[in-house]
Amino acid sequence: MHLYEMNWPRVKELTPDTPVVVPIAALEQHGPHMPVFTDSLLLGEVVRRTEEQLRDRVLFTPLMWLGNSEHHIDFAGTLTASPRTYITMLKEIAGNLLTHGFRRILLLNGHGGNIVPSQQALFELRQEHRDRDDLQLFSATYWEAGPPPSDSTLVQSRMGHACEWETSMILHLHPHLVGEIKQLEPITQEMPFAPAHLAWITQDRSTPGYIGDPAAATAAKGERLLDHFTANVVALLEKVFDRAR
Ligand SMILES: [Zn+2]
Repeated sequence: MHLYEMNWPRVKELTPDTPVVVPIAALEQHGPHMPVFTDSLLLGEVVRRTEEQLRDRVLFTPLMWLGNSEHHIDFAGTLTASPRTYITMLKEIAGNLLTHGFRRILLLNGHGGNIVPSQQALFELRQEHRDRDDLQLFSATYWEAGPPPSDSTLVQSRMGHACEWETSMILHLHPHLVGEIKQLEPITQEMPFAPAHLAWITQDRSTPGYIGDPAAATAAKGERLLDHFTANVVALLEKVFDRAR
């Protein structure tokens, strides 16, 4: 179900157990070869495929395209909420859903910069409703919602940025939006001092804006990645939301 298609009486009729998914993405630079709307296009496709399989078992809100992208703001075209504003927005959307009586909420994420804020938003919301014992507040990022892809043709072992994986998926969905990739040299995904976390802005890691190996992208890899990630998201929703509490 899509919230944007429904009137309020129909929403009111839904059982409070109805899981509600809030898709959260971004609008930010994706290298010289990919559109700034990449994360929103990809998460939107995962949502579209997931909704087709789950239909009226799950309620989807519209995708929130404004994300936490301050680390990309020095690249033209990037739009971002400040981190604190973003956390507040996520808390307030989830809080609205609690006000309407829903109690199972998943922030389904499609952008690396949203991972920490989405967890923090739900952490804070949970503390503010500590008298409740019936809440299930989740966040998950679509490419980490299940096991990693086992496709042996992939060069990368994990998601980068405007990388082999994202470029492959956009090549499959919207090939006319992808520029030349063959001349793009790989840029390492390794982080110095790992597993310690070093705070970074994009220029610390990449001059052209991508991280990973976009030249290795193909549309066929992208189709397989989308199939795999969608299956993971569907399995997560079935596991989480079918478990009676
Ligand atoms: Zn991206």
